[in-house]
Amino acid sequence: MLSRPRLTIDLDAIAANYRLLQETVSPAECAAVIKADAYGMGAEAIGRHLLFKGCRAFFFAHPGEAAPLAAEIAEAGGRVFILNGLGGYTVRDFTDSGLIPVLNSLDEAWLWMNEAGDKPAALHLDTGMNRLGLPAIDDAAVQALQQQGLNLVHIMSHFACSEEPANPRNREQIERFTARYPAFGIAERSISNSAGCFLGSDAHFEMVRPGLALYGPQPSLGNRADLKIPYLFEAPVLQVRRVQAGETVGYGATHVFKTDGWSATIGAGYADGVPRCLSNRTHVFVGGKTAPIIGRVSMDSTVIDLTLHENPQSLAHARAQIYGPDIPVETQAEAAGLSPYELLTRIGGRTERAFKGRLD
Ligand SMILES: *Cc1c(COP(=O)(O)O)cnc(C)c1O
Repeated sequence: MLSRPRLTIDLDAIAANYRLLQETVSPAECAAVIKADAYGMGAEAIGRHLLFKGCRAFFFAHPGEAAPLAAEIAEAGGRVFILNGLGGYTVRDFTDSGLIPVLNSLDEAWLWMNEAGDKPAALHLDTGMNRLGLPAIDDAAVQALQQQGLNLVHIMSHFACSEEPANPRNREQIERFTARYPAFGIAERSISNSAGCFLGSDAHFEMVRPGLALYGPQPSLGNRADLKIPYLFEAPVLQVRRVQAGETVGYGATHVFKTDGWSATIGAGYADGVPRCLSNRTHVFVGGKTAPIIGRVSMDSTVIDLTLHENPQSLAHARAQIYGPDIPVETQAEAAGLSPYELLTRIGGRTERAFKGRLD
């Protein structure tokens, strides 16, 4: 067996999550956000699978991320939106492959109209996130550009606090959006990310843009959705070691064995996406039960405690689950003080990816 870590993605579980989201927001259209390589899970395979399952709108952050799939999506009658706007790319980077930029400012709207003519674009209205999007003060100027030929086909905004269903900012943002969009006369609107899908029908408009929930993590602090866990991130046990009371483990000797026992070294470290802040903070799952991470996570390996396992030596070359169906990524994220988004997108380049349920 290879000593590399492995990420196995169950494409049917992602499709089931997509179906759940689509049913939750129906009759609105459910798009799929597959930016950042589908949150570390593989945008090409996931995008193709969701296209086959009926998804017709995809969001990426950059034109380059969309390149491997743009033609297939267009052929199937789907659309590709680019969230980061023109972002210093040339207009041809979009028009050559039919990408729809999400214009985030008056400058971008002006540039698009001048260089892309009547090619379709989306417009992002900032309603309180203060990250990307048009401030209200520029609404009239963009409406004037529409008179001159700017072709806006989608209008959107983005929630700052949608994972807190009771937060009054959600309602406030919907109200600001509702006050501003009519003057643009665009029939297709969206504001909801994954958590927004669970805020009720007045957050759905004609389209929703979930990312996170497709990949399994619970998006909302308010309710538990019946989402499947599609990821299995695991590393091989490289060595099982007998240890004696008083010995220490790893850099900085941050763990001391209180009794004689067993440890194992697994072949994944912080270069592979096991954050160093998990050192001495959580466990992995191996041989049917949990095993604490002991000592500091190293670059290429991590040490775990097998003292409470029945037959530790039998676990040489077993695989340890870092996160997956037996340990959700949320559990590890909480132990690390990071968000599930951050943990998923950290999986490093050495990790081998395998897909279950692939159609091709
Ligand atoms: C990333 C992103 C999304 C998806 O958010 P999730 O919380 O992952 O569902 C939707 N809209 C915009 C503008 C985004 O940047």
